Amino acid sequence: MFRAVLVALIVAFTASGCAVNPVTGKRELTMVSESQEIQIGTENYAFMQQAGGGDYDVDPVLTEYVQGVGKRLAAVSDRPLPYEFVVLNSSVPNAWALPGGKIAVNRGLLTEINSEAELAAVIGHEIVHAAARHSARQMERGMLLQVAVVGTAIMTSDSDYSNLAIGGANVGAQLISQSYGRGAELESDLYGMRYMSRAGYDPQGAVVLQQTFVKLSEGRETSWLSGLFASHPPSEERVRANIQTAATLPAGGETGVERYKAAMEKTLDTKVAYEAYDEGRKALGEKNSALALKKAEEAISLYPDEAHFYGLRGDARYVDEQYDMAVDNYDIAIRRRNDFFQYYLQRGLAKEKLGDDGSALTDLEKSNELFPTATATSKLGDIAAKRGNKLQAIEYYSTVAGSQGEIALDARDKLVRLDLEQNPGKYIQFGCYPDSSGNLIVAIANATTVAIRDVRFVVQYRDSGGVTRNREESIRGPIAAGQRSDLNTGIGPYPPGAGCPVQITAARVAK
Ligand SMILES: [Zn+2]
Repeated sequence: MFRAVLVALIVAFTASGCAVNPVTGKRELTMVSESQEIQIGTENYAFMQQAGGGDYDVDPVLTEYVQGVGKRLAAVSDRPLPYEFVVLNSSVPNAWALPGGKIAVNRGLLTEINSEAELAAVIGHEIVHAAARHSARQMERGMLLQVAVVGTAIMTSDSDYSNLAIGGANVGAQLISQSYGRGAELESDLYGMRYMSRAGYDPQGAVVLQQTFVKLSEGRETSWLSGLFASHPPSEERVRANIQTAATLPAGGETGVERYKAAMEKTLDTKVAYEAYDEGRKALGEKNSALALKKAEEAISLYPDEAHFYGLRGDARYVDEQYDMAVDNYDIAIRRRNDFFQYYLQRGLAKEKLGDDGSALTDLEKSNELFPTATATSKLGDIAAKRGNKLQAIEYYSTVAGSQGEIALDARDKLVRLDLEQNPGKYIQFGCYPDSSGNLIVAIANATTVAIRDVRFVVQYRDSGGVTRNREESIRGPIAAGQRSDLNTGIGPYPPGAGCPVQITAARVAK
């Protein structure tokens, strides 16, 4: 993730200039160009939809409706961008915007509001984040880089898979999980309300929306709140500011209460099924597979059209090590929705448990195509290693080793075991220093997570006649993980600051 952000920044610095912000009219230094904004948004949009639970495709009429409201606002915004709007299949009340105008609203936010004007307030706010370059500005300030160092730990709700992301997908996870800051939130509220008013909506919708958010943020557990309220924290200050802004805009306008109610009918009817599903996910997170299974059955009986419910039933079966039954459920889920990564990921894992590596490979690759995860990549490494494709396994494990958490540590471990003999210099560090009589001591440090032995290395030195010579040395070991072993070579005199002419030539993993 680090490298991708760095690349984005390096590209950015090559094309900097001064420009007027399209929304605020303020002059600002611009390093990320519009085409780069659009590119970053486009590249991450599909991944972030997957990470947010996938598209809410069981109700395409609702998605069309939300897109209609989005287009109406985008048309009166201060910046033409290739705006896109989707509804995500997640109960977390969240909405986000990627640079370049790629916007998403969660099902769980739609069920908390009561009018089209409130929906317009949500979307108008997100449009401003994109139009006023809020993400781009953060990239320019190098804030994303800091986020990269700290990690993306705030994305932890039950229906949020962002923490699994590796490689390119991780950049998107940062883009939508970061806090834009108080100033940007107020700016998004202000201009979002102006867009609402221009589009013919009652700006009071933004006041009601913010009051709803403040109320929501008071009564709920933090993990449930992590999405929306991490990136757009609600506050009484924002309520007050919206009341003031509304006073400066023409009174009246559409509220669209009836239209909203009609568009939401199916979603509200099935809300109880998704609640059962969410309880099942939570139970599974707490290793209570029996309750998860019960909740999945309940959700399926209430609303048999939703593929996620079969996915949950499969996951419960998987935890119970009933892999055949798990696969049956993933099959049903995939028949109903063939573009969600998690069903393929889980079916791949189940197939591998059943000894069907061929099918597992296909599913895991498909899963990674939709949304690259450490879990799928690590398992692909295992399969490659099992099949004797050492180089391929090393490639998979290297990708995972750069991520975070237990799975990364495990991958680093496997990587050393596979690769140490070929590339000992990659895993072993060394240093040189003189002993009391000036002879060269070489320190060999095991920078890996496993014990190593039989480290061989070549020391280059000049003999008393000034002739360059190579001497082969070795440390039988074992050297424990993270430890070092020092060898006095007897070569002297070794003047301080003479460099460290050592080359590691061989090493083995200690059994
Ligand atoms: Zn915001």
